[in-house]
Amino acid sequence: MKNFDYNRASSASDALRLIESCAASKFLGGGTNLVDLMRENIEEPAALVDITGLPLRDIEENEDGSISIGASVRNSALAAHPAIRHRYPLLSQAILHGASGQIRNMATVGGNLMQRTRCCYFYDHAANCNKRTPGAGCDAIHGFNRMHAILGASSSCIATHPSDMCVALAALDATVEVESRRSRRSIPFTTFHRLPEDTPHIETELEPGELITSIVIPKLDAARHSVYRKVRDRSSYAFALVSIAAVLEVGNGLIRAVRIAFGGVAHKPWRAYPAEELLEGAAATSENFQRAADAALAGAEGFEHNSFKIELAKRLIVSTLAQLSAGGTK
Ligand code: SF4
Repeated sequence: MKNFDYNRASSASDALRLIESCAASKFLGGGTNLVDLMRENIEEPAALVDITGLPLRDIEENEDGSISIGASVRNSALAAHPAIRHRYPLLSQAILHGASGQIRNMATVGGNLMQRTRCCYFYDHAANCNKRTPGAGCDAIHGFNRMHAILGASSSCIATHPSDMCVALAALDATVEVESRRSRRSIPFTTFHRLPEDTPHIETELEPGELITSIVIPKLDAARHSVYRKVRDRSSYAFALVSIAAVLEVGNGLIRAVRIAFGGVAHKPWRAYPAEELLEGAAATSENFQRAADAALAGAEGFEHNSFKIELAKRLIVSTLAQLSAGGTK
């Protein structure tokens, strides 16, 4: 690990001043991904600005029915919060499907958004990786790509985003609240993470010097009828082959509200808008669920070892919507 300076910020303005004072610095939350990357010399910041002491640890229900989640809230605290469990069960379930109890106790909400891919070539200094070294090439495209993307990939990178929590937040149309020394802004969750295109090393819409302060989830009554399901190679402590965050509200046999997002299939949490458009107002039937699955995966392309994910994702949509339409949310 390369030597680095360590600074503990006492306030948001202090953190923003410190981060601007050194171009090669990074914010430190729980450190559950960043410190691993530093140990492997994948990340080599000159300085860390520790933001765990900032007053960003609250979960607040707002008058308009939205919920604000401070960026330093620990993943386990968010999953266990009564309002999240009752109003947005898919979010609580998504968090509990990720990592281990110890890691969830340490990891923060803001850090979860900033975690990097678990593509094995990204971690291997002997491999070519455009994300680690822009212009180097991508050994995953003709390598072992079982865990890689089937949607939105490029000839530069076929990595997937590893988060479970972010898939639920994409389905819920959350916003990411960010602050710099000059401004504040809200970034829609579905555009916060980028597709790889020809710059896979640029993974989010965050500008240099911007700090994530909170996540806001809008009011969505239908989200009480929601679930997160994850297909993986072993039943715990494994990243998704394909996961789904889904909301489905049905009345008189017709779909009143639907939200669908996938994990494990793209460089970002993947919102299945074509499937939602097809289902909104339609009858809640297995035929329509299958049509929605076909629409959601219409643009999918597999590689040598991961083409099975296309059919897997389709079946996951159909079975999850059938489960929700029957009243199942576990
Ligand atoms: Fe690197 Fe992306 Fe290729 Fe993996 S898929 S080797 S992260 S460029």
